[in-house]
Amino acid sequence: MTKANLRRRDILKIGGAAALATVAKAALGAGTAEAGPGAALAEGLALEGTYAAGKYTLPELPYAYDALEPLYEQRTLRIHHDKHHAGYVKGLNAAVDKLAAARAAGELGEVKALSRDLAFNGSGHVLHSLFWRSMTPGGAGPDAAFAAALADRFGSVDAFTRQFAAAAKAVEASGWGVLAFEPLSARMLVLQAEKHQDLTAWGAVPLLVCDVWEHAYYLQYTSDRAAWVDNFMKLADWSFAGRRHAACRAIFG
Ligand code: MN
Repeated sequence: MTKANLRRRDILKIGGAAALATVAKAALGAGTAEAGPGAALAEGLALEGTYAAGKYTLPELPYAYDALEPLYEQRTLRIHHDKHHAGYVKGLNAAVDKLAAARAAGELGEVKALSRDLAFNGSGHVLHSLFWRSMTPGGAGPDAAFAAALADRFGSVDAFTRQFAAAAKAVEASGWGVLAFEPLSARMLVLQAEKHQDLTAWGAVPLLVCDVWEHAYYLQYTSDRAAWVDNFMKLADWSFAGRRHAACRAIFG
């Protein structure tokens, strides 16, 4: 069994400590397992400087403001990072704080607006943190292994880059072109995101979900979505969510 297969099977369908230990051993080798699987497994996904001491933080650029010139000029980069990205970080922390206050007070009347703020600013923070690292002075091609993976998935590296650029150009209004790893299939997808948040917080791993599309409840509950949600909560399997949460903590720390 390859390491990739092991991870896909055991992380996504995680069944408890035994499976976690198997994943950790496979990923780390026996010698480093004592350090815990989280740091090593998450290392490749870490976005340095994005969170510290209970607050989201604005990461430093991994290059100088003028390092991408002339293709991306200093003035644009400075405003984009120092003003726009900083604004998302500020808005994200504010939304987290306001939701905490609302929970503590038992007053959730603003939960819709606050959840929107959370998704908008959270997705902005995640995507911009990825965006700065998605560029490097002079650009850099894929290494041989990643080129092979792209070619295997998309036909050729060239076919991939054409699709990615076309998708990014064709995003309606504001948004993003995204190359993503889709864990169910363990394959890559080229996606468009409209605004930031319409595909929700990038990188978040869903632990438990409730469907509130009308098709999920209308036949039984007609327009009473609240009754459906209340009853969903009685059906919810938090042990399933707990197993997924434990798997995430083992991976991401
Ligand atoms: Mn932006």
